[in-house]
This record gives sequence, C-alpha cells and structure tokens, in this order.
Amino acid sequence: MEIQVKNISKIYGVNENQVVALNCASMTIREGDFISIMGPSGSGKSTLLHIISGLDRPTSGSVHYGDFDIHNGSDKKLSAFRRQKVGFIFQHFNLLPVLTAYENIIMPLLLDKKQADEVYLQELCSLLGLENRLSHLPHELSGGQQQRVAIARALIAKPDIIFADEPTGNLDSKSGSEVMKMLCKVREKMKKTLIIITHDLNIAEMAERCFTIVDGELSEVTA
Ligand code: ADP
Ligand code: MG
Repeated sequence: MEIQVKNISKIYGVNENQVVALNCASMTIREGDFISIMGPSGSGKSTLLHIISGLDRPTSGSVHYGDFDIHNGSDKKLSAFRRQKVGFIFQHFNLLPVLTAYENIIMPLLLDKKQADEVYLQELCSLLGLENRLSHLPHELSGGQQQRVAIARALIAKPDIIFADEPTGNLDSKSGSEVMKMLCKVREKMKKTLIIITHDLNIAEMAERCFTIVDGELSEVTA
C-alpha cells in the first residue's frame, strides 16, 4: 500500500508561543521502501513520524494509506487502523516494566482481543535472538535486548509498515549496530516498509531513500 503525505504542517501553541514544527512536508512512501530521515534535534522529525503513523494529528495537510485518509475520521477508527497496519519503535523502548518480554510482545494483540500466532512469534523471536529471554522482565535485559523485544512487539500484529524513531539513540554503538542489523534482516525477510529516523550517518546510508529535515522543511536527498 502506498502512503501519500501531502502538505503536512504542524503548529504547536498559540499566538506568541507558536512553534511551527512542520512546514508543508510532502512525501510518497511506496510499498517496501526503506527510508531514513535525518535532521538536527528539534527539526520536526518525531512530529513528522507521529503524524504519518497516526499517533498525532496535523494542523493541516493529509496522509492517505491507499484510499484511506487517516486524519479525516474518528480517533477510534484511526487507532484501530494503526494497531493493524503500523508498527512503531521508540528510542526509549517503552516496555511495561511489570510484564515479561513475552507479555510485552503480545500486548498489542490483547488490546485487540486476538490470539498470538505462535509460529510467527517464534520466527520473529529467532530472527531477533530472543528465544531464551521471553520470561525475563525488562530490567533483567540489556538495552539492546529491550529494544529487540520492542521490535518484536511492533511486528506482532503483522503490520505492513514499521516506523522507528531513533531506535539506536539510547544504545551503545555495538548493541546499536546489532539492533540495526536485526531490524534490516526482519525487514528483508518479512518484506516490510521501514521508515527510520536517525542521527547516525551509517544507519541513514543503509536506507534506499534518504530525507533530511531542517526547521520543519522536509526534502529528499537520495543520491
Ligand atoms: P525532533 O524529533 O527532530 O527532535 P520534534 O518533532 O520533537 O523534533 O519537535 C519539533 C519542534 O516542535 C521543537 O521545536 C519542539 O520543541 C516542538 N514540539 C514538539 N512537541 C511539542 C509539543 N507537544 N508542544 C509544543 N511544542 C512541541
Ligand atoms: Mg525526536
């Protein structure tokens, strides 16, 4: 499914406190694309990813997944759509500390009252090297392992599209590159569309298409 992002602007605050976080951002994301987005801190990267993935609404502009205009409908419809179609990976993992790795991974399914596909879950955990970690609590895992659990959670509902907001930003360089290798492997094996925000040029260059964002202005810089 193609994603059409058209003239997205986001303004926070009112009057003299206004911040233009995004200024008329447009892009077309094709099925299977691997896209990186780079930009300085505060340039609007997270805002853009949240709006494209349906975690937040724009001030103006539209995001279409195929024919579906995701911001032109109820919050309920949007969150149901998001849970089925989109996986999101955060910089700070966002695992629930009182749940085991396994319970964290299947959490999105519980919210939709669905059963885990155990064969798929096993394939996912073996790609991510998590087979022997599933009964552990997050604090018993390394940062890299926690992020791999978060990746499995993002993929458990079999979404077509994965968004990752600086997924290695909280990791040392060794576990960061391990996490990236696994994320790329999962993407290839499972034929997912991947959009990743990063500060790391090496990671940005793994992608097939590269964008930069400066002061809310998005542009493609693919060679
Ligand atoms: P990045 O992810 O590139 O660091 P963000 O998208 O988080 O940037 O933020 C872009 C701009 O919007 C920044 O100036 C930030 O301070 C501002 N901003 C982000 N979220 C909010 C918010 N909820 N309320 C007000 N300003 C915000
Ligand atoms: Mg950010």
